[in-house]
Amino acid sequence: MKIICIGRNYIDHAKELNNPVPKSPIIFMKPSTALLKDGKPFYHPDFSENVHYELEVVLKISKNGKAIAERYAEDYYDAVGLGIDFTARDIQDKCKDKGHPWELAKSFDNSAVVGDFIEKSKFDALGIKFQLMKNGVLTQDGNTKDLIFNFCYLINYISGYFTLQKGDLIFTGTPAGVGKVNIGDHLEGYLEGQKMLDCRIK
Ligand code: ZN
Repeated sequence: MKIICIGRNYIDHAKELNNPVPKSPIIFMKPSTALLKDGKPFYHPDFSENVHYELEVVLKISKNGKAIAERYAEDYYDAVGLGIDFTARDIQDKCKDKGHPWELAKSFDNSAVVGDFIEKSKFDALGIKFQLMKNGVLTQDGNTKDLIFNFCYLINYISGYFTLQKGDLIFTGTPAGVGKVNIGDHLEGYLEGQKMLDCRIK
């Protein structure tokens, strides 16, 4: 399986990091070894002094497809969940300055946390509320109505380059409020008020 991630897909987040708002989706990937699930703790890596959380809505791909038309894209994912795209921001800033790829900052072991998934029919994909509590304090408060590129647009765009396969995950981007994690922090993700993700930093 592969994990496909979208950068800067909420205007307020692009602005908070002083990045331009993209005209087409910014795509990067994480390998299967980045996946951290089942509520396991995240061990803070020692190669970074500024690991950020980014809470994102994650789509689970339910069948194989290539060059999927936007009007059929709904048929290609069946579940929605929450994930954290852990990002070594200090390394990413260096990569950006040099024009280098982001993998060292974004694709390291356990950098893709996922919680529970719920059948997508329970939601209106164009207006899903999601929130991150860090140590009990609300730090990110997003709604998929604010996505620059919505789910079907993304599935069409991604599958024009990469065949999507059953079990692949798409991290659809983070809203404003990203920040540093420290050892001892407790992150909890809520989707429409329901707790879906729990991650302790060790
Ligand atoms: Zn992200």
